[in-house]
Amino acid sequence: MVYENPDGVRIGLEIHIQLNKLKTKMFCGCSTDYHNAAPNTHTCPVCLGLPGALPVLNKKVVEAAIKVGLALEGEIAEETQFHRKNYFYPDLPKGYQITQYDFPIVSNGKIVIEGEDGEHTVGITRAHMEEDPGKLVHIGSIEKSKGVLIDYNRSGVSLIETVTEPDMRSPKEARRFLDKFRNILEYLDVFDGNLEGAMRVDANVSVHWGTRVEVKNISSHKGVERALLYEIMRQKNVIRRGGKVSQETRHFDEGRGVTLSMRTKEEAEDYRYFREPDLMPMRITDWIPAVKETLPELPDAKRTRFIEQYGITDMHAKSLTSKIMLADFYEGVCAKGVDPKIAATWTADVFLGELNYRDLAISSYDGEKIGFIHAKDPRIKNSIKVSDMVELVNLFAEGKISDRAAVEVIRTMLDTAEEKTPSQIIEEKGLFKAEDDLVTKAVAETIAENEAAVQDYLGGTEKSLNFLVGQVMKKTKGTADAKTARDLIIKELKG
Ligand SMILES: [Zn+2]
Repeated sequence: MVYENPDGVRIGLEIHIQLNKLKTKMFCGCSTDYHNAAPNTHTCPVCLGLPGALPVLNKKVVEAAIKVGLALEGEIAEETQFHRKNYFYPDLPKGYQITQYDFPIVSNGKIVIEGEDGEHTVGITRAHMEEDPGKLVHIGSIEKSKGVLIDYNRSGVSLIETVTEPDMRSPKEARRFLDKFRNILEYLDVFDGNLEGAMRVDANVSVHWGTRVEVKNISSHKGVERALLYEIMRQKNVIRRGGKVSQETRHFDEGRGVTLSMRTKEEAEDYRYFREPDLMPMRITDWIPAVKETLPELPDAKRTRFIEQYGITDMHAKSLTSKIMLADFYEGVCAKGVDPKIAATWTADVFLGELNYRDLAISSYDGEKIGFIHAKDPRIKNSIKVSDMVELVNLFAEGKISDRAAVEVIRTMLDTAEEKTPSQIIEEKGLFKAEDDLVTKAVAETIAENEAAVQDYLGGTEKSLNFLVGQVMKKTKGTADAKTARDLIIKELKG
């Protein structure tokens, strides 16, 4: 299958990620652990831009950037250096941002995603290091706010900005790219995507191979897909009415799901880039081998290994490796000697599915339990132990509980804070599988009580069989195995 791209859509992304796993900021010793702190408490003369304060580069930032570059299969520059990007804004107290310009640390990388027509390669033009500005807090909504507060806790936190080629051909591909990129960053352990503002995206989009429009400051993956869908529709409408799409920067209004014009696009010259005189150019070639040593097994490699080692399907392997913590949890469960295929089903399909349904995101794994937290309300959190999943998988594998009961156990473990083992939950809820004679009895009763449905089924109406199975499930309070019930009914009626 070849994707035709009927609307000539081209999408490129610029992604800012915070290296929020580093303990200190980019050019000073201030702690990056500010998310629960009072405003402006994690600051010093350097990140407040006070006169005379000088930056000292955090070596870990360079190492993290090399790590990211290697993971993206990019070229690491032999020599790299910083520039000043000059502009005035209250979140930038120095009046310039320390960033990189024509000597970025990483260039020519790639990420392979699941595209519209199978595997699709998205080129990475460059990735560079820069500092985060402070954060503006509008009181109320941005349009009606009477005042703006500034929090410099974020000022000077290390960022990596990654710029892609305009290789994505649909909003869906853009979202898949971001999912994969985030996954890789979490494997590298430089980034915690659950923290507020950890990943911020600007998107360039054009239709019919035409003029590109930039959509700024989209904060979530879902937001990116929605913003792009809206923007593509808007541009197509402009062209349909005989107009021309103008080159501009637009802002995505998350609440209303629309993009709004902000300004005509600024050019690089507007920023008066010049070399940062307070920081020396760096030769980093010698660092690369040592950083290479620290590279973990990356998602694609882990997926291939899971298929070979555990004999699971590609779908399951893909889903299990979509989060490093989930992959580690699964391996923790398998290490206890359970059937890896059954464990894959219950971890990848049911457990992950129920998490997504509840808007819960995996947030930790410590070798004993996997923790998850609500995407919007961090007060809602819970965890499941490796030993609980092992017990559940074994109970199911031994035929002691039905699949419905096993799903019920997982739901109960997710929804209650009390720490109960699967057997305790099964005991309390009476979920142990019905004994065979109980099912046989329920089948006999069902057949006797539902003459009409029995005749319909014998007359060729297949869906009557589903009705009869439903009756048996009802009589056994869902503890019968549906397939067993079905087989028994067929056996009784057709011999
Ligand atoms: Zn500081």
